[in-house]
Amino acid sequence: MDITVDEMKKSIKRMYERLDEVSPVDFDCGKLCGEVCCVYDADETHTEELVLYLLPGEELMYEDSDEFELYYMDSSEIKYPPSWKDNIFLVKCKNPPKCDRSIRPIQCRTFPLVPHLNKNGEFHLVLDETEFPYVCPIIRDHIKLNDDFIIITFEIWKRLISNPLVYDLVDMDSKERDKRTSNYKIVI
Ligand code: SF4
Ligand code: SF4
Repeated sequence: MDITVDEMKKSIKRMYERLDEVSPVDFDCGKLCGEVCCVYDADETHTEELVLYLLPGEELMYEDSDEFELYYMDSSEIKYPPSWKDNIFLVKCKNPPKCDRSIRPIQCRTFPLVPHLNKNGEFHLVLDETEFPYVCPIIRDHIKLNDDFIIITFEIWKRLISNPLVYDLVDMDSKERDKRTSNYKIVI
């Protein structure tokens, strides 16, 4: 039975609310780095543009927002798994590092942890310095993440990868990570 748009929106909202209960650390880590993970693009000396890719259904959260620009690309334009046949939605924050935090994407909420499937298909969350073009002090300085953040992020990503599209994307990214580096840390 296909999930309705309304059910999909409710499901994403529940995940956002669950992730709102936790944060990576108990202090404002943005003070360590000038919130580089939000403002990296604002420095025009960088040639690499970072974009926020949305997971299936997340685009429904941005339809009425003035703080984000919602747009899409054809799946053939970017390197995505072949199972993604529809448009891929992305958002741009209009005024980073400020945004409507109640609807910031999963990618921001679970950062700096990233989902990873190992060669046996086992699911983990990892810290990978090679994932982003900037330095995150939490990763660099081995700052301990809150246990509840790790556990809830794991729970949410496990739920997300039950969607075959998300599974395929995480699987593709994991295979690329394993080709690129072995120097990432498995957190859980
Ligand atoms: S998550 Fe990392 S890069 Fe982002 S604000 Fe915190 S310390 Fe900086
Ligand atoms: S959505 Fe918000 S938290 Fe995420 S990068 Fe943009 S400004 Fe930062």
